[in-house]
Amino acid sequence: MIQDLKKLGFTHASSNYILTKEYIELILQEYNYDFESTEGISSSNVYDELKSPMNPRFLEPRPPIVTIMGHVDHGKTTILDYLRKSSIVSQEHGGITQHIGAFQCVAPISKKLITFLDTPGHAAFLKMRERGANITDIIVLVVSVEDSIMPQTLEAIKHAKNSGNELIVAITKIDRIPNLKSRAQSIEKVENSLIANEIELEKIGGDVQVVHISAKTGENMDQLEESIISLSDIMDLKAEKNEKTVCEGWVLESEVKKAVGNVATVLVKKGTMKKGDLLISGNSICKVRAMLNELGSQVSKASPSQAVEIVGWKSLPNAGDEVIQAKSESIAKKYVAKRQHLVQEENESITVEKMNDERAAQSEVNSLNKEEEESDEDHEQILTETGPKDVNFIVKADVSGSEEAIVQSIEHLGNDEVKSKIISSSVGIPTENDLKMAKITGSTILCFNLGNVPNEIINNKDKIAVKQFNVIYKLIEDVTETLTDNLKPIF
Ligand code: GDP
Repeated sequence: MIQDLKKLGFTHASSNYILTKEYIELILQEYNYDFESTEGISSSNVYDELKSPMNPRFLEPRPPIVTIMGHVDHGKTTILDYLRKSSIVSQEHGGITQHIGAFQCVAPISKKLITFLDTPGHAAFLKMRERGANITDIIVLVVSVEDSIMPQTLEAIKHAKNSGNELIVAITKIDRIPNLKSRAQSIEKVENSLIANEIELEKIGGDVQVVHISAKTGENMDQLEESIISLSDIMDLKAEKNEKTVCEGWVLESEVKKAVGNVATVLVKKGTMKKGDLLISGNSICKVRAMLNELGSQVSKASPSQAVEIVGWKSLPNAGDEVIQAKSESIAKKYVAKRQHLVQEENESITVEKMNDERAAQSEVNSLNKEEEESDEDHEQILTETGPKDVNFIVKADVSGSEEAIVQSIEHLGNDEVKSKIISSSVGIPTENDLKMAKITGSTILCFNLGNVPNEIINNKDKIAVKQFNVIYKLIEDVTETLTDNLKPIF
């Protein structure tokens, strides 16, 4: 068996070699045995049965997937814009690119591809991480040379450490300090603060590279790209690209587009996606009608680390959900039905648990009521003890990526007196139904990036507050203010 394993590509196989589940599946396949897992099947893993086992023979190098993080205004968008425009691919195309949540560029010297993710708020990634999937390989931490480390820089550092992603630091806006001596001094200060925050920079013997860039003038941007490539070479990133491998991917964004219908940007993880393939994601099935890259051009295939906008979804899939290929429409339908059945069962058991919890809480309140003499004051005290007051919101956004980002950012806001509660969230202009829902629940409607919301919605007869935002942090500020307004006055 060890000899067989070596032939299969397990060069280090020995008598005490420990095999992963995927390897066991692969080996069984070679001996013509079926694999049956005894692990519990739930709605979150039911599609795993469709996946191909990992086959090391088919592994090929793939481009690194990079996320840019850092404090607001330190220059993340400017870097992404520069890379998008300077990319050879987009220059040939005339420089017009569309936002699909990710794009690829060719590093200028090595001519290797890099995938950059630019989904707003990166909420889809939070959701993927919650499920134990980490789709980013490398984080570029952006720090402005003028402002140095700020609160969100520290958050990004924390995130990088927790996620186990590799890190590259880009100290940016260096053109803002034209005097080279003062520039070097400021850079040194930023680097020292990074070291003080336990970032192991190369200059102290660590392995974190630092580049000093200006996304405005383009200075050293090629160095940034090549640093990413050299790091990814060390990481030895690989995936199966084989056309027979069952495709897997992640939904980065989804939206309904005029004329074409439901579209979703899918980042390919494994296999090669093709026109005509059948895909499943959550409850949505898709027969791939067309695939478009970030330049809006049709492509017939998409390989690992590539993101494409896929047309042909019967319903809108959710950002952050996994995508899996099914061999035929009947298999796809069978699995979606199987998953729906499991979801229903799981929801029923959650409801039972919740009811038990509620019953327990109610009996606690009842016994408190009995124990205490019920003067009005005591009654109020009991109410506050049962939890903070909810302030209700309905979220409407341009694309599901930003919808997710907003929900994630505001759903935990508040303190032990008031907290925000999201009644519903969806993509598109507020409808009559949203207004009705807002009226019943006393919600404020928060619109994000929706362009012109019709006047009859804004000035609705029920005087429901419909607020419009284009910047996430302004929206968060406003929600915080609304929460503050709902605090009881202190006399
Ligand atoms: P983000 O919030 O991190 O995405 O930051 P932006 O990319 O929106 O940049 C914030 C501001 O800094 C904008 O006014 C940019 O034009 C400016 N900026 C970003 N990078 C540079 C740079 O390298 N040099 C200069 N001079 N300005 C920059």
